[in-house]
Amino acid sequence: MKSRLPQALALLLIGLGSATAHAAVDEKIKAAAEQEKAPLIETLHDMVLIESGSGDVEGLKQMADFTEARLRALGADTRRQKTTAGAGADIVVGTFTGIGTRKLMLIAHLDTVYQRGILSSQPYHVDGAKIFGPGIADDKGGIAVIMHALKILKDAGWRDYATLTVSFNPDEEVGSIGSGEFISELAGQHDVVLSCEPTLSSPPAQNESLLLGASGTATGTMKVKGRAAHAGAAPDRGRNALIELSHQLLQTRDLAKSIPGTQLNWTTSKVGTVRNQIPEDAEAGADIRITVPDGLARLQAALDETIKTKLVPDTETTVTIVPGRPPFVAGERGRALAKEGQTIYAELGRKLHIAEMAGGATDAGYANRSGKAVVVESFGLAGFGYHARDEFIDTDSIVPRLYLMTRVLIEEGRKR
Ligand SMILES: [Zn+2]
Repeated sequence: MKSRLPQALALLLIGLGSATAHAAVDEKIKAAAEQEKAPLIETLHDMVLIESGSGDVEGLKQMADFTEARLRALGADTRRQKTTAGAGADIVVGTFTGIGTRKLMLIAHLDTVYQRGILSSQPYHVDGAKIFGPGIADDKGGIAVIMHALKILKDAGWRDYATLTVSFNPDEEVGSIGSGEFISELAGQHDVVLSCEPTLSSPPAQNESLLLGASGTATGTMKVKGRAAHAGAAPDRGRNALIELSHQLLQTRDLAKSIPGTQLNWTTSKVGTVRNQIPEDAEAGADIRITVPDGLARLQAALDETIKTKLVPDTETTVTIVPGRPPFVAGERGRALAKEGQTIYAELGRKLHIAEMAGGATDAGYANRSGKAVVVESFGLAGFGYHARDEFIDTDSIVPRLYLMTRVLIEEGRKR
């Protein structure tokens, strides 16, 4: 997951209501989760030692081999799916066939933001309840939770689902450019998707959370067509695209501020080739962020309306918006699932926080795009320092996170 908005702005934390009754803990699952703690740490260790930056095709292949073998050992049919863009690594897909009715899906990613060689300066090491290592939380912790929750469920003989699909993509940290469409398509064939990014990198007391929203991205391009002319001999015959572009940038720079859930910043421009010619073409690019599904359409409409007001006559201005990762907005069904998660956490006497919105983007946005599946994010481990020098996971979160995922899958499988 990418960088987060300032916590104070981005986070609205809802604590567990004191009126909620604490249901009895499932002792069997709890004991199994406790038993899986050490094996999970071993899995994490093995995965952290495989360097797998988003461009590292060899490392990503090793991660794909490792995870595919583990999924097979758990009883899954597995396959590799080629990404459609990017470095050329594979998506690993595991499918379990059960005896129930619901279609459940778990997603996490194989890649990290770190370049090859990182382990020499940022090695795997343990310090009390913290284990440090590149990608250990984001997102090898998420993969480990999936593997070991599935182990607990396999040992318990749980098969209360029609299908249980696991998908690990190799390009999340570069926008899932070659896997996003695949995730979206596959998720649309499921009832529930649990996305296993680490929990928000929040202050420790609020660190064990689930996430219901993350912003999406898009790129805006403004093009102005003017008319070329000799800048010295006949400037009046020209229609200056640079001047018109400047006018349009100024009158659209604050436009997104009046459209809730959108943000637009002009960040690049390209205009003019030679000094003595009135420029015919001018272009600018914008970074766009959205937190509402219809944000891009509303922004486009507002831009189209505003650019009608010209400064330089006879010029033609257009704005196109190309969507990137869709925003993730879990909605009411996602919120209900997260609240069930709170109840499950309370069985352990622990408090699960619900985070409403994070900056950056997540594959939960792709999974949620069709609106069919119920999608909730951050089923990975609690940790800190993602994408940084001091990335670590909190080993005290392992048992509760395993318990949470295991119990949520059981509860979801039970629904008809
Ligand atoms: Zn991530």
